[in-house]
Amino acid sequence: MAWLKEQIELVKIAADAALAQAHTQEKLEQVRVAFLGRQGTIADLMVHLKSVSVEEKKECGPLLNELKNELTAAYSTQQVALEKAVERAALEQQKLFDVTAYVHEPVSGSRHIYTQLIEQLEDIFISMGYDIAAGPEVETEYHNFTALNVPTDHPARDMQDTFWMHVPQMLLRTQTSSVQVRSMEKQGAPLAIFAPGRVYRNEQVDASHDFMFMQAEGLVIDKHISLSHLLATARSFLQAIFEKKDLNIRVRPGYFPFVEPGLEIDASCPFCSSGCSICKKTGWIELMGSGLVHPHVLRTCGIDPNVYSGFAFGFGIERMAMIKYGITDIRQFHAGKIDFLKQF
Ligand SMILES: [Zn+2]
Repeated sequence: MAWLKEQIELVKIAADAALAQAHTQEKLEQVRVAFLGRQGTIADLMVHLKSVSVEEKKECGPLLNELKNELTAAYSTQQVALEKAVERAALEQQKLFDVTAYVHEPVSGSRHIYTQLIEQLEDIFISMGYDIAAGPEVETEYHNFTALNVPTDHPARDMQDTFWMHVPQMLLRTQTSSVQVRSMEKQGAPLAIFAPGRVYRNEQVDASHDFMFMQAEGLVIDKHISLSHLLATARSFLQAIFEKKDLNIRVRPGYFPFVEPGLEIDASCPFCSSGCSICKKTGWIELMGSGLVHPHVLRTCGIDPNVYSGFAFGFGIERMAMIKYGITDIRQFHAGKIDFLKQF
């Protein structure tokens, strides 16, 4: 038998075998390229056909065309079969899909209670015309104590256990009142600021004390500012934060070195009319320290106390949140427990 004719028959056998083995689209494509591709076996044989005798051409030409047509048809058939197999497999997979299977509820996050409460507080004070102020957490002894009328040898410095830095006269601020000093130094009078922020005390941690917590501070300086402005502000703010229009306040004397007179402000219990566990059966809840800014503090910060006066107040944000939301342990705020956080 002539070489070319023999080759055509061999290629037919090889191609049939290869097609029978092509069980994936990828393998089928490899077979197509090998036999029917531009540089495949059939193309080679076509080139060879040009160089044989006229008789051989007459015999092998039609055989070669027939082979090419057969292979092309077989390839198409195989391709359709594979596509159908893929569809069938997908349908089988769908049958296995169990619509009654248990799926975990997606867990969605929420903003930390700090963020929520601070935003509420800021909204209230911005609506009263205050600016929001901030200061550094690593503070100078001057801004945290000295400028706030606490002399170096005064026992008031021992009232708060302080985290001192290794750098002399630097500390982690023990109160946001340091922001008062910075704001007065920077802006002068008149001013109205509200400053929430983190403070640190070297304290034994228990259910009502933490070494790190949030405070908020308010300060208003202007001409003719009196206690009545402070009391009206405190009442309006507490009514807004506890969403209780008939909430009342009472004041008691309190000592804070940077105010004179100093006042403790209590709110009437937002949860009861005749005593409950939150107000310890008294009907009142201690909430804020406050007072009229001490003339020494004004003078130290470059404001003339003969022209200007002001009031300041401060409170613990955790304490506010604990009362508002009935939280019993201050350590929960930093514990990072999802069960606690997702309640808010
Ligand atoms: Zn109560």
